[in-house]
Amino acid sequence: MSRLRTEIPGPRSRELAGRRAGAVAAGVGSVLPVFVDHAEPGLLVDVDGNRLIDLGSGIAVTGVGNPAPGVARAVREQVDRFSHTCFTVTPYEGYLDVCERLAELTPGGHDKRSVLLNSGAEAVENAVKIARHATGRPGVVALDHGYHGRTNLTMALTAEEMPYKRGFGPFTPGVRRVPGSYPLRDGLTGAEAARRAVAAVDRPEGVACVVVEPIQGEGGVIVPAPGFLPALADWCRSHGVLLVADEVQTGFCRTGDWFACDREGVVPDLVATAKGVAGGLPLAAVTGRADVMDAVHAGGLGGTYGGNPIACAAAVAAIDTMRDLDLVAAARRIEATALPRLRGLAPDVVVQARGRGAMLAVELASADQAARVAARCHAAGVIVLTCGARGNVIRLLPPLVIPDGLLAEGLDVLEGALQ
Ligand SMILES: *Cc1c(COP(=O)(O)O)cnc(C)c1O
Repeated sequence: MSRLRTEIPGPRSRELAGRRAGAVAAGVGSVLPVFVDHAEPGLLVDVDGNRLIDLGSGIAVTGVGNPAPGVARAVREQVDRFSHTCFTVTPYEGYLDVCERLAELTPGGHDKRSVLLNSGAEAVENAVKIARHATGRPGVVALDHGYHGRTNLTMALTAEEMPYKRGFGPFTPGVRRVPGSYPLRDGLTGAEAARRAVAAVDRPEGVACVVVEPIQGEGGVIVPAPGFLPALADWCRSHGVLLVADEVQTGFCRTGDWFACDREGVVPDLVATAKGVAGGLPLAAVTGRADVMDAVHAGGLGGTYGGNPIACAAAVAAIDTMRDLDLVAAARRIEATALPRLRGLAPDVVVQARGRGAMLAVELASADQAARVAARCHAAGVIVLTCGARGNVIRLLPPLVIPDGLLAEGLDVLEGALQ
């Protein structure tokens, strides 16, 4: 392949891997240990000059491009003005610009407020803090196959033991895990799956919130059966339980809507966002009903870096890019191109092809198969990720701005790898 100059990883990457082993904690993994030098549209270029097709976007982060020209410009301008003040010491306008855009774009036309943070885990953790404070209830409900982060509280919410939880307990109490909707496995309608989920909650009057990814990412790109989320939202409303949508992975055009909840008109009480919001700069948010958000006393929320001005400038530019380039439509085009091709893949190997927008996956029979397919893609210069409770799902999270030709080429490689 002409994009590759060496085997993967190449000699310079292998040399750096040696240095890494002596300096970086072994617990930090890498899907594909090529060291990156720079990026081009849809490509990562490694230190050996290999040009790899990026179907991962750094886990659904660089949807707007890497670097997106508008984001790069905004970051350069902001870093020359000031890099940090701490919003809780002295505020600045960029923070407001982001919160106003979040209020406008997240589901529902109601009055909203936001708090800005640094990571998806921090956003989910703050959403739970706010929900507990606003309701005065301690309980939290999370779903099977859910993934919400690696802090103590979000590990408690996260379903899979490996690699996220083993040996890291004890975890925060008060978290109840219930079955979700996994149509391939459970064969239930959305309404049936929702009934099963809420039947597993023993005391709704003690529950502050249900935390749910509208499409589960790390758990295997699991799209719930239609009607599941609306039924869950109805149950929450009738029991005074807040619905927290973890849109960290699904948000910002990824699924062919601004937010995945939009598809079925579900309006959560609180929305956690991160990943795609700022074109690669670390930024996260909780956006929600003004009465719920404002229930927390002044000083109860915040953090040193939350809503850092450079990250805010990046987010404003990233969101403007999403609008200008209509990345909602771009994600739908990616689905229209890629999903039929995935559905046509070798039926003896592929159990199911699924997903929405530019969040797509093929579930294979075993983790072994998925690892072999991913390894073949990597060797051929295409970055794909695996996920799923059993590690048996190959997932594609391409940049929303990926050139058509590169997407097609990446899919050719995946198709070949599955043969
Ligand atoms: C990635 C992810 C998180 C955690 O985000 P971090 O920025 O890694 O802390 C939480 N929820 C979902 C759905 C995610 O995909």
